[in-house]
Amino acid sequence: MKKLIEGIVEFRRKSQVGYREAFGRLATGQAPDTLFIACSDSRVVPNTFASTNPGDLFVLRNVGNLIPPCDKHGHSISDESEGAAIEYSVLNLKVSDIIVCGHSECAAMRALVGDRNTVQMPNLKSWLRHGDPAVDRLRSGVVLDFSLSEHNQLSQLNVLLQIEHVKSYPAVKKRIEEGSLAVHGWWFDIAKADVYAYEDAFKKFVLIDEEEAERIMQRAEK
Ligand code: ZN
Repeated sequence: MKKLIEGIVEFRRKSQVGYREAFGRLATGQAPDTLFIACSDSRVVPNTFASTNPGDLFVLRNVGNLIPPCDKHGHSISDESEGAAIEYSVLNLKVSDIIVCGHSECAAMRALVGDRNTVQMPNLKSWLRHGDPAVDRLRSGVVLDFSLSEHNQLSQLNVLLQIEHVKSYPAVKKRIEEGSLAVHGWWFDIAKADVYAYEDAFKKFVLIDEEEAERIMQRAEK
């Protein structure tokens, strides 16, 4: 925590004045256009790799970027935190995009492909079940990128699974049908500090460089 405290003092000394106007504006309300769903992993840093500012992203983070799907009544089958964040951002903030962002070397994905019985943490062990269908897909031979290690292959399949779970919520379904909401899959490669976006046409994650960025922007304008 020492680094955090020193950081606050440093922020007050060097940067606070510059941010005052922006935070003054934000104090009256937020209008982020994106719900960003990511893993709690300390190395996944959207503010850094996507150059975002305060007020840009409504963020939901948990272990493994897992979203429990909802039942036929629209209630989460597990923890309500994820459903609540989805409902609030989609219905109240009216975000136009939801991004599910997985990452390489995810400990949750390693645990999912490993022996679950060795996980000595009861809550974590139970929580991981929301990624099980992705493990089933991997075991049945579904792979998006053969160059990746097994847990990273799973991590990519897990992003696609969690997109399906996000889309199970009535609020999301309705906004997608209206054409006012899109759900995307991203994947952060920690070692390279590269971000990839899932391209349905190619059935794989594609590096977000200038060319891919253009493709994404053109699609968004349609
Ligand atoms: Zn992770």
